[in-house]
Amino acid sequence: MPKRVVIIGGGIVGLATARALVASGRPLAITILEKESTVATHQTGRNSGVLHAGLYYRPGSRKARLCREGKAEMEAYCTERGIPWTRSGKLVVAVAPEELPRLEALRERAGQNGVEVERLAPEAMREREPHVSGVGALWVPETGVVDYGVVSRALAAELREAGVDIQTGVAVTGGHETASGVVVETEARPVDADVLVNCAGLFADRVARLFGVAPEVLLVPFRGEYADLAPQAHHLVRGLIYPVPDPAFPFLGVHLTRSVDGHVHAGPSAALAFAREGYTFGTLKVGELAESLGARGFRTLARQHWRMGLGELGRSVSLGAFWRAARRLVPELKREHVARGSSGVRAQAVRPDGSLADDFVIEQTRRAVHVINAPSPAATASLAIGREIAAEALARA
Ligand SMILES: Cc1cc2nc3c(=O)[nH]c(=O)nc-3n(C[C@H](O)[C@H](O)[C@H](O)COP(=O)(O)OP(=O)(O)OC[C@H]3O[C@@H](n4cnc5c(N)ncnc54)[C@H](O)[C@@H]3O)c2cc1C
Repeated sequence: MPKRVVIIGGGIVGLATARALVASGRPLAITILEKESTVATHQTGRNSGVLHAGLYYRPGSRKARLCREGKAEMEAYCTERGIPWTRSGKLVVAVAPEELPRLEALRERAGQNGVEVERLAPEAMREREPHVSGVGALWVPETGVVDYGVVSRALAAELREAGVDIQTGVAVTGGHETASGVVVETEARPVDADVLVNCAGLFADRVARLFGVAPEVLLVPFRGEYADLAPQAHHLVRGLIYPVPDPAFPFLGVHLTRSVDGHVHAGPSAALAFAREGYTFGTLKVGELAESLGARGFRTLARQHWRMGLGELGRSVSLGAFWRAARRLVPELKREHVARGSSGVRAQAVRPDGSLADDFVIEQTRRAVHVINAPSPAATASLAIGREIAAEALARA
């Protein structure tokens, strides 16, 4: 009898895990349960589409290692499958002299992570991106772009061909481990499994709790809004233009990205979302907002970063505030060049003391693997993360 593995979540991490399970060659009956009608509906289908080179992450962390491995695998996968991707390169720009020490620290970190970067003076910076303004930059030639929605649909097609049962429109509502396996409850009927893998993205902590696991962290939703640049402003951005990130904050700041289809956007912002899938300012789920606001960790975080938080909320309601952030990098950008674009919501894991769990967090029980925190660059790293999760799942099958 093949062992039965149930994966909750048809985002890129769940799909990549299924792919690695298939590749193991073990006789398995794999089922993916996805609550939406298609795969990649949430974080995977609503992101910046960047293939991160891996310069930001703490050396030795899971993020640092899996980003490097996963990016190489993702590029190879896309090439093999004919999925468009490009290595357009990225410029991290210090706009003011006080940002230069942080730029230098980033250069050192990139070196520790094995990422090739080049320190550029303003003239050389403008050879790469002629419309950028700043006092210095890092050039990261390896950074690229892809559409993770397209990648996910290719993965899903490949998995179906390999016999994986992808059930969409099936929400998991509860479950428990037994002596010999796991019972997964859905809105329709229970599903029995030998091993469970929780890749529920924005709901991963809640799903873990449904199965009796008590993760230390709470997932707090942060909405990232994008502004689309009008076609007459597309020439202002050749590839990817980023600010120097604030190391106290997990997000990278409003940046400009030329996507793989050639359209250019600015963003994402990072405002507290009032619902886990709250893609607009007005989307509010009282219970979910109360959960965020009621958590000690979130309140501590809010006290520490209230100024930045207000700025981000400002960008959420005012396109003008958004434009001003993007114009710091590219001063020729005019207010009429930016229009509201799409949005995504990131799951950010917050510890009870208010610190942010920055690395990927995976918790295991006897019969289950729970991927509690898979923030950026988890799309870049997905094929490598999937291999590690699959290894944990196989050890339990
Ligand atoms: C604005 C933004 C920009 C980003 N930019 C980048 C980037 O440029 N590069 C990069 O590498 N990463 C980026 N990321 C991060 C990346 O998108 C995520 O890390 C990655 O997509 C996580 O994938 P996932 O499969 O874990 O989650 P998701 O894609 O969220 O998938 C989880 C799935 O689980 C399903 N689900 C949840 N609960 C249940 C349930 N009870 N029953 C059944 N199904 C359930 C959901 O419907 C969903 O489809 C960005 C994220 C955001 C939001």
